[in-house]
Amino acid sequence: MADQENSTVQYPKLGLHIDGEWVGADQRRTQPVLNPATGKPLGELPLADAADLDRALDAADRGFREWRKASADQRAAVLKGAARLIRERADTIARLATMEEGKTLPETRAETMGAAGLFEWMGEETKRIYGRVLMRPTGTRSLVMKEPVGPVAAFAPWNFPIHNPARKIAPAIAAGCSVILKPAEEAPASAMAIVQAVIDAGIPPGVVQLVFGVPDEVSRRLLASPVTRKITFTGSVPVGKHLMKLAAETMMVTTMELGGHAPVIVFDDCDLDRAVELLAISKCRNAGQVCVSPTRFYVQEGIHDRFIDAFQKRLERMNLGDGLLDTTHMGPMANPRRPEAVEAFVRDAVEQGATLRSGGERHGEEGFFFRPTLLTDVPLSARIMNEEPFGPVVATQRFSTLDEVVEQANRLPYGLAGYAFTENGRTANLIADALEVGMVGINSVMMAAPDSPFGGVKESGHGSEDGPEGLSAFLVTKAIHQA
Ligand code: NAD
Repeated sequence: MADQENSTVQYPKLGLHIDGEWVGADQRRTQPVLNPATGKPLGELPLADAADLDRALDAADRGFREWRKASADQRAAVLKGAARLIRERADTIARLATMEEGKTLPETRAETMGAAGLFEWMGEETKRIYGRVLMRPTGTRSLVMKEPVGPVAAFAPWNFPIHNPARKIAPAIAAGCSVILKPAEEAPASAMAIVQAVIDAGIPPGVVQLVFGVPDEVSRRLLASPVTRKITFTGSVPVGKHLMKLAAETMMVTTMELGGHAPVIVFDDCDLDRAVELLAISKCRNAGQVCVSPTRFYVQEGIHDRFIDAFQKRLERMNLGDGLLDTTHMGPMANPRRPEAVEAFVRDAVEQGATLRSGGERHGEEGFFFRPTLLTDVPLSARIMNEEPFGPVVATQRFSTLDEVVEQANRLPYGLAGYAFTENGRTANLIADALEVGMVGINSVMMAAPDSPFGGVKESGHGSEDGPEGLSAFLVTKAIHQA
C-alpha cells in the first residue's frame, strides 16, 4: 500500500489479505468508502465472497497449526516489530484514519500511538504466559497448561479504525492464535495499515487474514465453520446478541465489547473548571462516537446551574471542520446514519419536554457534521435517557442525594463506563463501588491503557480487552496428570 510520509497522503488501493497475499477487486463486488468531511468517495472496497472466506478459514487453520509452535521470543519479536513500524508510519496511518473516519489528526495520532503501545505491551506480556505445577505423591505431578484457543474470528467497528484492529490482532498473535479480522467497511485503509505492519514485522503467511464484506454474510460463514474457535466482537448490543446466538452452535469462546450509556455524576463539591474541561473534550472526542463517551449527566442541585452554564459555553467554543485542518476541534460523524440518528434523539427529547441549550442540528453544507448538543432536564421517558446516543450529545438531569443518583445511574441494562467528579474521597469510594459498570473514572476521563482491562458488564458485554485479562481471553486451560 502507498506509504508517503507527507501531508497529502494518497488513499491506497483497497484489498483483502488472505493466506499471505493482498487480493484486489478482480470480479468481486465492491462498495465505495466515503470521506465523512465531504461525503465524497475515497476509494472502492472489494468485498469477500464465500470462496474468499473459505480460503481465509483454510489459511487460518494452517496458520494456527504453525504459529502455535512459535516460541514466546518469536511472538514477541513480531509484536514489537509491528509496534516499531506503526510508530514509524504514524503520520501516514493517522492521516488515512482521519480521511476515512473523520476524527481530528491529534486524535488519530494518539490512536496510532495507542495501537503501537498495545503491540509493544503484548510483545512483553506474551513471555509471561505461565502454567503451574501441582504437587502430587513422589514421582507424579499434575500440570496446568495455557494454550492458544485456536483460530479467531474478529469483528472491529469503524469508530477506532486503528486501535480496534490492534486490540483484536495483538492479543490473538501474542497468545499463539491465528486470526481472521473483519474491520468495518467504512474505514478499511487504517486496518490495512495495521495488518501491513504486522506482515512487515515477519508474521508468517496464514496467521493474520483481513477480510471485508457484507457483515452478516461474513459472520455467518466464519461462525458456522468448525475451524473458528473464538469470536471477539466490538459493536452494538443487538449485533452482539445476534452473534452470541450464532457462536452458541459450536460453543465458541466469546468476547463481547458492546455499547454503553455512561452516567456522569457531578457532585456539588467537584472542581468545576476541571470537570467542565475534561467532560467537554471527552464528549467531543470522535464526535461522541465512543462506547465510553460520557452521555447521561446527573448534576447535583447545588452546582447544577453553574455547571450547565459553563459546560454550554465550553461546547460552543468547539470548532467543527475537516479533521485534517489544524483549526478543527471536532470532526464530522463517521457516516450519514449517525447525524440522522442523533437528530431523531434530539427531536424526541425536545418533544418530551427537554430544554435544548445548545446545538441540536447539523452543521455545514457537506459531510456528516452535527453540532455539540446540550439537552437539560431531560425526562426519563425520552429515548436518549434509555438508548445509547453515539453522538456529540449530552442529556442532563438534576439530583440531590447519593442514593438517588446511584439508582438512576444503574437503571439501564448498559454497564460499560461511569464517571464521577468529587473532591471528597469517601464519596469517590462510595460511588466507584456502587456503579454497575466495568470501568469507572473518578475526576478522570481516561479509560483505556495497554495494561488495564477494558470491558463492560450487564448488556455491555463480557470479557476484557487489553491488560493480562485481554491476553487470557485468547488462551484455554489444559490439566495434565502424570502418574
Ligand atoms: P451496527 O449495529 O449496524 O454495526 C456496528 C458494528 O457491527 C459495525 O462495525 C458493523 O460492521 C458490525 N456489524 C453489523 N452487523 C454485523 C454482523 N451481522 N456481523 C458482524 N458484524 C456486524 O451499527 P452502526 O450504524 O455501524 O453503528 C452504530 C451503533 O453501533 C452505535 O449505536 C453503537 O451502539 C454501536 N457501536 C459500538 C461501538 C463500540 O465501540 N462498542 C463501536 C461502533 C459502533
